[in-house]
Amino acid sequence: MTTTADLGDTRGEGYGELAPPPAADVRARALAASVAELENLSRFDREDTHERAGRTAVAADDLGRTDLALRARLVQADLLRRRGNVAEAGRRAEDIHRWATDHDSRHLLARSHFVLTAVFQELGDLSLALEHGVRAVELLDEDAAPEARIDHVARLADCLGLNGDLSARDRYDQVLRLAEEIGDVDRQLMVLNNRSYCETLAGAFDEALVWSTKLQDLADRHGVPLSVGRLDTVGRALMELGRLEEAEAALLPGLRPEVLRESLDGDAGADFLLTLAEVRRRRGHLAAAQDVLDETVRRCEQHGLTSIRVRARREQAEVHAASGDFRAAYAEHKTYCDELMELQSAERDARARALQAMYETTEARRQTRRYRELSLRDPLTGLYNRRYVDDELPRLLGRGAGAAGTVTVALLDLDHFKRINDTRSHEVGDRVLRAVAEMLQDTGLPADAGDGSFAARMGGEEFLLVLAGTDSESAARHLENLRRTVRMHPWAEVTGDLPVTVSIGVASTGGAADVTPAEVLGRADAHLYLAKREGRDRVVTDAA
Ligand code: GH3
Ligand code: MG
Ligand code: MG
Repeated sequence: MTTTADLGDTRGEGYGELAPPPAADVRARALAASVAELENLSRFDREDTHERAGRTAVAADDLGRTDLALRARLVQADLLRRRGNVAEAGRRAEDIHRWATDHDSRHLLARSHFVLTAVFQELGDLSLALEHGVRAVELLDEDAAPEARIDHVARLADCLGLNGDLSARDRYDQVLRLAEEIGDVDRQLMVLNNRSYCETLAGAFDEALVWSTKLQDLADRHGVPLSVGRLDTVGRALMELGRLEEAEAALLPGLRPEVLRESLDGDAGADFLLTLAEVRRRRGHLAAAQDVLDETVRRCEQHGLTSIRVRARREQAEVHAASGDFRAAYAEHKTYCDELMELQSAERDARARALQAMYETTEARRQTRRYRELSLRDPLTGLYNRRYVDDELPRLLGRGAGAAGTVTVALLDLDHFKRINDTRSHEVGDRVLRAVAEMLQDTGLPADAGDGSFAARMGGEEFLLVLAGTDSESAARHLENLRRTVRMHPWAEVTGDLPVTVSIGVASTGGAADVTPAEVLGRADAHLYLAKREGRDRVVTDAA
């Protein structure tokens, strides 16, 4: 087989008089074959692919074949993405995409759409990912290699699956057939795994099990050990169907040191362990569940896996609850809720920054504004989040003195909210939070509230209203009305016979210019504490 290293050596002089240098088109053909092979390999992160692609790109530049050079560089970009540098991968893929558009290079267009599909998928923009995924398939040549067709259609199927679109199924069927026809076991395993995962996402656990069983069988038949990520797919399908013993048995091979070691620095190892902990806890094997959970947390901390760390807290709360330690379960659950909110907004912020890094033009910056805005919102209620408060409140307080500069802050905390979660459900709790948020948005901000007024969710069942340019007496009247609006809401449809009320602590700057956010929020919090102590469902202000 011709390798890129060989090609590198055929450059320049060194050919004897009797052996004329190979014609440029012969070398170009060999180079093209080499690039196609790299594209084929890029689906699997083999160690030397990146380096080989680099050498091939240089050889192609020497031949003046920019198209081939860019195809090789695109392979490098895709590998970069796999290794976590999504922004840089996206930037390079966009550059190459532009060149392909200008030069009408169809294959390169298809390939850059293919890489961009995965980039946007990882950045969480599924609709853009889907657009690229569709183009990546459309632009693929009729006589493209079957491996390329499998890769492009499978990636489109993944996108559809993540979008909850079950037309993914037909596409998976199609690529599975293709992979079987050419006897490509690696790609069959990939398709079976992704199909099963997609069914799990759709809640079709029976279907997920069908595909994960095929996955397991195929791996067994070929003596390929399944990676922990794929064992996780198999175990999860069984667990969701309540077949806990089988789930644990399916997961166990993943504990073998040589299997687990392979995923030492990836998320897959920790993810897998977390599933195992859940299976064991559901089986009532609490000590064994705690053991793997401890190992999960250790890995998360060692490798900085924040999002799995947060999910491990939810599992920890479940383990505590199953052991009858409700106090610990409650504390852990509360931490889980707080960290989840923080994580979601940090993730959005990271996406915004990654996109910003990808696009340097002003036109494209508009796209990133949407993400920036999202990173300042609480996903459950759509209100602003604490990050926004931290940015905005200092600005607002610094704006100036005088009556027009009076800023009133109100901290609102739902009364006995835990009771709703405990005696109804977490879902009902969430519905209450959303309904209160809506009231804050609709009537919480009076019509005459000045510029810069806003409502936010501070965390859990605590909200903040900031009223700018309203004097403190009318602010107090308004908040009293708001308290009544919450109490009078037709809650019976949501909570049954449980009332929902709110305690409100208010503080005002009175127009002073040098008030800090910490000072005014501290005062509001002290007033909230008083409102709780005096029996809840009341407003306490500076005047009281
Ligand atoms: P108090 O009247 O003294 O404020 O009592 P409380 O029960 O409202 O207050 P506590 O702070 O003891 O409990 C708040 C609960 O809110 C604990 C936590 O599980 C729950 N919680 C936090 N975030 C969420 C969420 O996003 N959704 C739901 N459903 N519950 C949440
Ligand atoms: Mg409360
Ligand atoms: Mg609270």
